[in-house]
Amino acid sequence: MRLITHLIELAQWQAASSQTVAFVPTMGNLHPGHLHLVSAAQALLPQPRILVSIFVNPLQFNDAADLARYPRTLDADLAQLQHAGVDAVFVPAVELLLPSNDGAGAGVRIDPGALAEPWEGAARPGHFAGMATIVAKLFHLINPTWAVFGEKDFQQLAIVRRMVRDLNFPIHILAVPTQRATDGLALSSRNRFLTEAERAIAPVLYAQLRQAAAALCAQQSVDLVLHAAHVALTRAGFVVDYFNLCDSRSLQPLSQLSNQAVLLAAAQLGTVRLIDNEPIRCEPAGYGTICAT
Ligand code: AMP
Repeated sequence: MRLITHLIELAQWQAASSQTVAFVPTMGNLHPGHLHLVSAAQALLPQPRILVSIFVNPLQFNDAADLARYPRTLDADLAQLQHAGVDAVFVPAVELLLPSNDGAGAGVRIDPGALAEPWEGAARPGHFAGMATIVAKLFHLINPTWAVFGEKDFQQLAIVRRMVRDLNFPIHILAVPTQRATDGLALSSRNRFLTEAERAIAPVLYAQLRQAAAALCAQQSVDLVLHAAHVALTRAGFVVDYFNLCDSRSLQPLSQLSNQAVLLAAAQLGTVRLIDNEPIRCEPAGYGTICAT
């Protein structure tokens, strides 16, 4: 596995083979969710070379304390990636990717458009502009055929797909389903900040998403289902930011179930903000109301 920290090394690695490249962007502190993105990339045909980036992107943090405490575990990450059979890891310094970063946000940014306005965009101003700016830079530098993203960050995935389309990046996006602990909690680098008591409560978020999805598939009222989930999560100890039914392409709220719907949720548990989602897949009418979520 090649460890790349400079652009000249990246260019050399690219020139060494004409094989296509699948790119997996991460912020490190890798867990089995990230490794699942790698194995999804390895299953692509014709088999590409796999390049993983590790970069804790300062532009997408609007809270300095959150950036400072973001876990950095490079040695363990590299060992996991080597074991997974990754071809190269790109670990750029902040100055390399943000040479004119003056800390005041004066540099050129990608405007991620309307998809970035609600939900995480409302809770974290500038987050998606920062994410899209660095992803676009990495796409330019790496020039992959494939880029692999997790459905865990549903809004991020929607914005990246839209950016690729609107800015004509010649890249295919591969979306990978959310990987979960056995109790349903979506794997996340931030889970390590949960106390033991909070970790025991955390799976309730996904349990409520599944329960709401099943109730919606059973034709229950959207308002009542969402209200019941809010109440259950608040009783369990969450501070709910949003728990909503949305169109999975526009991310706009839906008052009625459609065949392109997703439940999006974010809730605070202690100091940790958990986000999760559940795409709704009901059995077609005529097969009863069995829900296939
Ligand atoms: P991060 O390092 O948190 O920025 O995540 C890097 C990539 O891994 C993103 O595409 C995430 O959506 C994806 N990812 C993070 N957690 C999971 C998970 N539990 N399951 C699937 N993909 C994930």
